[in-house]
Amino acid sequence: MFMYVFSCQYSQNKNKTSSNKKQNISNKMKKTEVEWKRSLTDQEYRILREKGTERAFIGKYDGHFEEGVYECAGCGSKLFQSETKYRSGCGWPAFYDAIPGAIEEHDDNTLGMRRIEITCSKCDGHLGHVFNDGPKPTGLRYCVNSVSMDFQPGKK
Ligand SMILES: [Zn+2]
Repeated sequence: MFMYVFSCQYSQNKNKTSSNKKQNISNKMKKTEVEWKRSLTDQEYRILREKGTERAFIGKYDGHFEEGVYECAGCGSKLFQSETKYRSGCGWPAFYDAIPGAIEEHDDNTLGMRRIEITCSKCDGHLGHVFNDGPKPTGLRYCVNSVSMDFQPGKK
């Protein structure tokens, strides 16, 4: 465990150092808030850009279990494979794993809770939160707003 944490931190530091040297390091999608407002629906904007949360059990992908890939509604980046989706009963789509590199995690201490917010690593859109009460093999529960995602059937 220690080795894992160490190597993980090491590679993060390495990335930071090397990325600082380059001028144009980020492949993030940068848009102004006006541009986002134009390209998203009101509901998507409220959740992706203003970190809102859709009501539990009403999201279009909560009970959706087709084969395919879930993409970011903001930028189209692939986020989750359908194989990792499971019935958590929490009222939002839940996955036990994300596509590598697709997601960034941030400490979120709002609403008097300590949670880890997840965002799209490409466009920084708010997706939901990740909790450590998920099933094996990861033990993680990526709890995601349906509004933050688009589904592409059959694609990997
Ligand atoms: Zn995105």
